[in-house]
Amino acid sequence: MGFDGVDEPLSEHGAELPVELVRTLLSLLRHRLGLETAWLSSFRDGVQIFEVLDGDADAIGLSSGDRTSLFDSYCVRVIDGRLPAIIPDTSTNQTTDALPITTEMSLGAYVGVPVLNRNGGAVGMVCAVSREPKPYLADIDLRIVKQIAELIGTLIESPDSGRDTTAAQRASIRRVVYQRDFEVVFQSVHEVATGKVVGVEALARFPREPFRPDGFLAQAALLGLGIELETAIVARVISMVPQLPEDVFVAVNISPSAALVAPWAQILADVDPSRIVLELTEHDAVLDYGALDDALEPCRARGVRVAVDDVGAGFSSFSHVLELSPEFVKIDQSITRHIDVDDARRRLAHAIAELAGQMGATVIAEGVETQGELDAVSSVGISSAQGYYLSRPRPLVHGFPPAAAAASNDLLPTAVDLLGERRFELALAHSPIGMAVVGLDGTFLRTNRALRNMLGYTKRELAELTFQEITHPDDLDADLALLTECLEGRRRSYRIDKRYIAADGRIVWGALTVVVVNAPRDQPRYFVSQIVDVTADRIREADLARQAATDPLTGVANRSAGWSRLEQLDVSGRGYGILFCDIERFKNVNDQYGHRAGDRLLVEVAARLRAAVGDEDMVARWGGDEFLVITDSVNDWELARLADRITDQLESTPVTVGEGRQLPAQMTIGFAAHRTGDGRSIDGVLEHADQAMYNKRRRDRARAAGS
Ligand code: C2E
Ligand code: CA
Ligand code: CA
Repeated sequence: MGFDGVDEPLSEHGAELPVELVRTLLSLLRHRLGLETAWLSSFRDGVQIFEVLDGDADAIGLSSGDRTSLFDSYCVRVIDGRLPAIIPDTSTNQTTDALPITTEMSLGAYVGVPVLNRNGGAVGMVCAVSREPKPYLADIDLRIVKQIAELIGTLIESPDSGRDTTAAQRASIRRVVYQRDFEVVFQSVHEVATGKVVGVEALARFPREPFRPDGFLAQAALLGLGIELETAIVARVISMVPQLPEDVFVAVNISPSAALVAPWAQILADVDPSRIVLELTEHDAVLDYGALDDALEPCRARGVRVAVDDVGAGFSSFSHVLELSPEFVKIDQSITRHIDVDDARRRLAHAIAELAGQMGATVIAEGVETQGELDAVSSVGISSAQGYYLSRPRPLVHGFPPAAAAASNDLLPTAVDLLGERRFELALAHSPIGMAVVGLDGTFLRTNRALRNMLGYTKRELAELTFQEITHPDDLDADLALLTECLEGRRRSYRIDKRYIAADGRIVWGALTVVVVNAPRDQPRYFVSQIVDVTADRIREADLARQAATDPLTGVANRSAGWSRLEQLDVSGRGYGILFCDIERFKNVNDQYGHRAGDRLLVEVAARLRAAVGDEDMVARWGGDEFLVITDSVNDWELARLADRITDQLESTPVTVGEGRQLPAQMTIGFAAHRTGDGRSIDGVLEHADQAMYNKRRRDRARAAGS
């Protein structure tokens, strides 16, 4: 069957492929991931054949039996590491964004896992896609896709798969070699401490199954074409050196058998040899080091450096390192994988690093896929690293230097994917200021320790929260309004002071700066937030503000705070009422009993006023013995009732003003209101209230005199 990439494609063996079962599995996958279309394809001679489709086939414009070139597909790139298996948003990945197929098939989100034959060769692909990006897709979703791809792999495994190469296949391999039909991609090597790109490794890419370069090289070697192909790759890489940044080394892989016979003088004629690093692995145990040394000697004399590849992988024992005294030692990814949680691996890496260090070799850890692995690698003293976490292999297309090299010159590049960008991750981790990467929906994609300490949440707790959920409700609207302006492209950043609700319910004031990070096509991708704890400043300011707004003697609002409240109510347009309250014969109290007694009276009157009015109403000391009550009531009857309540409260008991002396407290109260649409200014209302107070006093005194 077609899944060997040798004979007939699956579609031409419909009877053997359990189409309905495969379709059911694809449908399950599609629904689980919330994607529109899923398919199973097979590979044959550089062509992808769509065997079974499920869901909306029209969305991608394809139907079962259709064929597309694999050369420009996502699939090969996933297989050879240029693309991750899960791409939640194709517009934010430089590789997918540049591929024409993204537009042709309207690919917004993509998930793809190769179907492997029993030799581990990719014979097809299980994919699911949708036109819309699906930001929620994450590595965890990969598990089900892998399971289904594996299941399908066993379903379609035919008894004769993995058999010898056919004549057609041999012809196809020969054609690739003779026509030099391969590409070279480059993966950056980074200095761990700074993230700086110090070198690149050239990796070959072939346009046909099994796509993995080592697999293809092995097949070519079986046809006696290995050395020709390897030499051709080295020549191609050397021709590309001028396009690479001058301060990075260029490493190229070569088998010892090819290194023994390659025409080095000719190959190195047009390049600065000190730029070149030869990466040597010995997969077949025995090797004549003497001969290899002799072959490499002229190159090394001219400045070519040597790396021993795959150290720790079993076949590349440390004796190779001792024999070759290389400038670089590359620790195999089987050691790097999970090194952060595996003590044995860490110890082994540490031992290799020590030994290499003693020999003056630079150690490079390969296959770093997570921050944890990078940290562990760094902790055992390894100075350089390579891996998908730092950067993926990429082609050197015109105007596109290895992006990691460009990014390393610029701490906050805007149109690049910052997440996973080493320098950014370092900045985030070590920043003493609270920092977070926040998704467009407000979820915390990344948080640093400073932020977690500030708010008291654990990493996991924050990962499950949105900023909306921990923002004080009163500050949320302002924050969201600014965020919306960013999303709509009207601003790139904003600054706001806002309150966060800490894990223990405390209010934490944060001075927040938010910068929107755009994807290559300019759509916002996520926000980077910096948060400085300003709670202490705020408390101090609040104290100062309170001091500035209160009357020091009585503790109620002062005149300026009263004014502010009136202005606030005035602009709100809802209307307000003012009670003008004047203490009767206050001057006499001062004159007769002294200022101390006068002060006591003022304090007590203010307290009783406060007790008589509602929580929403404001009592302000307007001047000497005048107080204002500012209320949102505009109804004359209600205002009169409030005035009565105050009078009752004041006159109920005399005020003790010291030395056992008690004085009656009496006030005259006039009121006025500003109602919506009456055109009254604040001054106008105050004057009315004042006037009403005088009128009342005159009437009261006349009544008292008359009685
Ligand atoms: P290698 O020399 O050890 O190359 C590193 C391999 O690891 C590359 O696979 C690279 O894409 C992959 N890799 C890098 N970072 C990560 C990571 O974080 N996770 C994982 N899982 N893989 C990562 P690639 O390109 O498929 O090459 C496989 C092997 O094929 C190479 O292993 C090398 O032995 C051989 N090869 C590739 N290109 C050439 C070439 O031009 N000439 C020769 N002679 N051999 C080559
Ligand atoms: Ca290598
Ligand atoms: Ca390696």
